[in-house]
Amino acid sequence: MKKSGLLERLAVGPVICAEGYLFELERRGYLQAGAYVPEVVLDFPEQVENLHRDFLRAGSDVIEAFTYYAHREKLRLIGREADLEPMNRQALAIAKKVAAEGNALVAGNICNTNVYEPNNRDAERQIRAMFEEQVSWVVEAGVDFIIAETFSWLGEAEIALDVIKRTKLPSVVTFALHRHGTMRDGFKPAEAAKKIEQQGADVVGLNCIRGIRTMMPSIEEIRKAVSIHVAALPVPYRTTIAEPTFESLTEKDQECAHCIPDGRSFPVALDPFQVTRYEIAEFGRQAYAMGVNYLGVCCGAGPHHIRALAESLGREPAASRFSPDMSKHYAYGNDQKLKAANREYAKDL
Ligand SMILES: [Zn+2]
Repeated sequence: MKKSGLLERLAVGPVICAEGYLFELERRGYLQAGAYVPEVVLDFPEQVENLHRDFLRAGSDVIEAFTYYAHREKLRLIGREADLEPMNRQALAIAKKVAAEGNALVAGNICNTNVYEPNNRDAERQIRAMFEEQVSWVVEAGVDFIIAETFSWLGEAEIALDVIKRTKLPSVVTFALHRHGTMRDGFKPAEAAKKIEQQGADVVGLNCIRGIRTMMPSIEEIRKAVSIHVAALPVPYRTTIAEPTFESLTEKDQECAHCIPDGRSFPVALDPFQVTRYEIAEFGRQAYAMGVNYLGVCCGAGPHHIRALAESLGREPAASRFSPDMSKHYAYGNDQKLKAANREYAKDL
């Protein structure tokens, strides 16, 4: 049976895309916070494969090749430029292998280069060349669509989209909104989304940087502004109006704040801000009701978040077999086989 593609799936319901590989593999001890280069793809490929599989079991419809920051600029920074091509090809091969286990879509990925400057033709040429080489490996690998993500400059997203369009594969373009809530080239998110729609993207939206509460108002504006599919992939942290991005979150417990280097919780001391799986489920229901049908969670996501998102959309992924059932908990449960004295003691726990 032929696998249905991204656009066919979006036409009939939501599509879930798990992201956040950098943060999760950093927590597990397989890559370094700071440069955040996916060296794990070459150094511990089985770990990437396992995480893809965890997300697939949890209900992700998309296995996104882990090539985020596997571009020439980043590899030069860490002195592994010679590994650029093998790293990209290996990431694509791993993603394809796992996707085939569960009828999932395979996505290629390109992202922010951190070298973009407005009106700098040299930088634009350099960025285009970086995207072209990555996209050529994506095309050779054979994927279902390509994600261009985490762009804070519209200008850079436009270059990415142009490179993807030449492949004729479906495209998902997502922006990352920093503290001011606009693109760095000044566009409001809805204006930027409109331009990306006009330039032929299939899906447009936001990923990373903002938590649910501070991302959704912009998602709503984007939804109103465009007629293509909209994507929302927040970070699973409780961002606020005062601290709208995960980079700006600060520890409020003074007894804990002193031990955090430079007092900056980002990126590896964000644990106290983590949302619960129930908040992710609520996000899924609300976003889908709003007409946002490409959904996921970005940096900080674990498989339990993706499972909650999938279940909120009426799915029952393989990992739902182990979704919570407190009826057999020794104290909080109501199963008649449980010891009455422990159930009675529940109020004293
Ligand atoms: Zn992210």
